[in-house]
Amino acid sequence: MILALVGNQNSGKTTLFNQLTGANQHVGNFPGVTVEQKTGEIKGVKDTLLVDLPGIYSLRPFSSEELITRDFILRHKPDGIINIVDATNIERNLYLSLQLIELGYPIVIALNMMDEVRNNGGSIDEKKLSHRLGVPVVPISAINKEGLDNLVNAITSTVQNNLYPKKLDFVKNGAMHRLVQKVTGIVSANAQKVKISPRFAATKVIENDNPIITMLDLSKAQLNLVESAIKAMENELKLDRNAALADMRYAFIENICADAVVKGSESKERKLSLKIDKILTHKFAAIPIFLLIMFTIFYLTFEVVGKFFSDILAMGINEVIKICDKGFTAYGLNPIVKSLILNGAICGVGSVLSFLPIIITLFFFLSILEDSGYMARVAFFMDKLLRKIGLSGKSIVPLLIGFGCSVPAIMATRTLSSSRDRKMTILLTPYVSCSAKIPVFAMFTAAFFPKHRALVMITLYILAIIIGIAVALIMKKTVFKGKPVSFIMELPNYRFPSVKSVLLLMWEKAREFILKAFTVIFTVTIIIWFLQTFDYKLNIVDHNDDSLLALIGKVIAPIFRPLGFNDWRISTSLIVGFSAKEAVVSSLNVLFGASILQSGAFTTASAASFLVFTLLYTPCVAAVATMRKELNSTSKTLLIVLAQCLIAWIAGFIVYKMGALL
Ligand code: GDP
Ligand code: MG
Repeated sequence: MILALVGNQNSGKTTLFNQLTGANQHVGNFPGVTVEQKTGEIKGVKDTLLVDLPGIYSLRPFSSEELITRDFILRHKPDGIINIVDATNIERNLYLSLQLIELGYPIVIALNMMDEVRNNGGSIDEKKLSHRLGVPVVPISAINKEGLDNLVNAITSTVQNNLYPKKLDFVKNGAMHRLVQKVTGIVSANAQKVKISPRFAATKVIENDNPIITMLDLSKAQLNLVESAIKAMENELKLDRNAALADMRYAFIENICADAVVKGSESKERKLSLKIDKILTHKFAAIPIFLLIMFTIFYLTFEVVGKFFSDILAMGINEVIKICDKGFTAYGLNPIVKSLILNGAICGVGSVLSFLPIIITLFFFLSILEDSGYMARVAFFMDKLLRKIGLSGKSIVPLLIGFGCSVPAIMATRTLSSSRDRKMTILLTPYVSCSAKIPVFAMFTAAFFPKHRALVMITLYILAIIIGIAVALIMKKTVFKGKPVSFIMELPNYRFPSVKSVLLLMWEKAREFILKAFTVIFTVTIIIWFLQTFDYKLNIVDHNDDSLLALIGKVIAPIFRPLGFNDWRISTSLIVGFSAKEAVVSSLNVLFGASILQSGAFTTASAASFLVFTLLYTPCVAAVATMRKELNSTSKTLLIVLAQCLIAWIAGFIVYKMGALL
């Protein structure tokens, strides 16, 4: 039994999905979090497949997520639909419900967030609602697990007993009603051929929905009949086709809500949210406050909490190395194997792992910002700024995801409706620094800028953003002329972040990071160790200057000399970083041993240029591959990668020269 979970953005689909399937998908208090569909079995009900689809507001596909959802419904023909409706915002949510009902599939409406409705003194008569809509309505509160059993029972019995919506025609009079009737008659045979409900097909044809019109394969004569009928309706109502259809639907929704819904007082949460927003989204204060918040987070992460745990972990790893060293020596282990284990595996992987607490701490704070609803505000007040560089506030969601990892960020651009906005955002995501670069930043700021770590960190992030803006401005003037699409987003109420969702995100990040350390980083470290221990005749070298790796590294090194990297080992680590950014740290550790500081390979100026180069050069191979897939062009992707490296090189060069002057 395939069940599709369909609803507006932020209506609680993922929360319900997690509760019903026991999965742990990411829940966020801002629209656009779920981009790809996720599936799972409903706990306790065998042979069910619940599909969590991206949030949509209507079945007219404006953005690619709306297309994903609609395509799924039309092509895969789920056995039933659970339409989740945010009861605190019932009018707008029912707009989608009416269209879903028209589809004619077995459907149950889940009225979510009933806890909030009750708390505000409101109520909804679900029996009346169900009667008027002709489909089962079940009040639930996904977050408190209320009504979930009823919901599961309702949907399974609806599907098993083939209960279709009782009526498709809600409004029984008026020019629009007559038009829908007429068009339904005209397209009925074609619709049945492709197995979609004639009534649904008719409204789509009236909306001039091209994909559906093509699918129906209407003849010239049919299209002419439809067009003239529409013209007649437009003349009578003095409204255009889309406005007239929306009008009919909303009039009906208003009518049932007047009957079945008792509005609560404006909720405490809403009032409080409005008050908080007066400050946090204030015309002038918003951006300084945002920067202050980010600075505080960096300060706490890099100088207080994260640093504290990282230092402890690093100390622990050092102890392990010492104990192993002693043990291996006492045992008389072959020195090469000992070096492989200690200088290769433990040193490389350990150097990356010790930054785990920093990453977890950072994501702890970021998930609080997201879950509380603040990030949605950031998208809102950044919209104006983003418009100046040719993007809309909608792009902020992928860009924010980019702070975690560029791969999901690039995929999240699917929420953008215009391909122009989409491509531009994909090009810009690398300019928000992903978390894999954090170990590099943390290591270098600790070594070279111990007193100003938070400041250096925020400067780096801002520098990347400024360069991103410059790139965007250039693109806006050249390849990407045109206007960003308009951006409408409602601001969710501020919520107290849920402990579960925060812990979940921290755990997810930790798991990803540990997994990467023991797979990619481990492999790369062993390769590096091997290449630096042997020469090309596979003899063991005394000093890695004579090794195979040095041979290769010294070919690349001259390119980086102008940036102040006089040692081949530095440029080599940057090349290795293309596999994964954390590998920069592990390979530096393997190549230099624990003595990067004492080696004199870096001055403060070259450390700064190293930071800037790492910040800006091409993202890792996984991100580049994703970019290639989403842009669907190898040559464009290569061009972008080259441009990114060039920009990084120039910026690193400028920073090095400025640093040397100072
Ligand atoms: P989606 O965008 O539809 O997948 O929605 P999410 O599942 O990500 O939820 C959006 C927000 O609504 C999150 O902050 C949830 O914690 C919150 N939420 C979900 N269900 C309920 C509920 O029943 N009651 C309340 N008060 N909040 C809920
Ligand atoms: Mg979701």
